[in-house]
Amino acid sequence: MDMQEYIQEAEEALLHTYNRYQIVLDRGNGVYLYDVEGTKYLDFVAGIAVFALGYHNEEYNNALKAQIDKLIHTSNYYYNIPAINAAKKLKKFSGMDRVFFTNSGAEAIEGAVKAARKYAYLKDGSTDHEIIAMNRSFHGRTMGALSVTGNPKYREAFQPMIGNIRFADLNDLESVKAAMTEKTCAVLLETVQGEGGMLPAEEDFLKGVRALCDERGALLILDEIQCGMGRTGYMYAWQKYGVKPDIMTTAKGLGCGVPVGAFLMTEEVGAASLTAGDHGTTYGGNPLACTAVEKVLDLFEENHIIDHVREVAPYLEQCLDQLKDRHGCIVERRGAGLMQGLVLDRPVGPVINKALEEGLILINAGTDIIRFVPPLIISRRHIDEMIDILDDCID
Ligand SMILES: *Cc1c(COP(=O)(O)O)cnc(C)c1O
Repeated sequence: MDMQEYIQEAEEALLHTYNRYQIVLDRGNGVYLYDVEGTKYLDFVAGIAVFALGYHNEEYNNALKAQIDKLIHTSNYYYNIPAINAAKKLKKFSGMDRVFFTNSGAEAIEGAVKAARKYAYLKDGSTDHEIIAMNRSFHGRTMGALSVTGNPKYREAFQPMIGNIRFADLNDLESVKAAMTEKTCAVLLETVQGEGGMLPAEEDFLKGVRALCDERGALLILDEIQCGMGRTGYMYAWQKYGVKPDIMTTAKGLGCGVPVGAFLMTEEVGAASLTAGDHGTTYGGNPLACTAVEKVLDLFEENHIIDHVREVAPYLEQCLDQLKDRHGCIVERRGAGLMQGLVLDRPVGPVINKALEEGLILINAGTDIIRFVPPLIISRRHIDEMIDILDDCID
């Protein structure tokens, strides 16, 4: 079959919830992807900030293959070694104390929200606690995650949401203060907003929210699903400012392609929130998924991925800034590390389509931002190659 025939079959079988780019991807190598016709693409999306280690990493692949031959799934009623190792390593990298593995980012958010509500419930016995989330945030598509996602467009048709969610603005501490009541049990935010605009939380804001939560007895939940796993040059973005959350979510890069996420908490919250029977998942943290997590964390360490991000990210920033200087339609560059956005004064769709035609995979964040979330192993050479193509496409 040729590519158009595959696309037609897909459109006949899959629910049309995505306007997909018109290519069928077939294989990958490093930071390059190939479609079924053999066309090569430089990939600055990494499956939406997922494939940190690049495609076809042999050590990662071999670890998964070996685990497939051993044991793929057991359920959570029994212990398994990959889950034990993955949890231990994740604790070490995150500085958090307790781990619950999920199958996705949205499920990690669901768990975090449940943990925060249960923690508050155990403290005062009431069942009308509130959560403060941020406007323009993105936390996933399940009903709970949607309820805390600050984008009315995503929520509208699916009302009613779960109750008692209030919204404030990122980097506006007064708005968080104003939303806080006696019933507030948690403040939830992305340390760097992804989908909503590649916007980092500022140090003063983060510290202010942390202090406010401490003062008012509310928990701080940081969503590190996109900005975590080394992307900003820190294993978790909050580590830059030392503003430690009570509960944290992680996913995307965590399994580098195998579907897995996690919510983590401090010992204090872990000891006084979810307990046996409160929460569960059939697949979550199965031996295959946890082998991926364990191997990813090992490879981060062995290959000094964080150091590499710190070395290469300033070059990406510099090149994007120069691109901005060359093109009047680019309004702003923002982001952190290898999580960058270029804000245009117009919709970015045509630029992204043109780039794809020229062999460069990019994605948007909202309608007017080009998002750059490449595999973390990219080098300066790949950045030069990307800028060359994008320069022409913006013209
Ligand atoms: C992608 C994302 C989610 C949702 O993760 P899924 O695995 O798609 O459910 C939640 N929060 C943030 C910040 C994300 O980027």
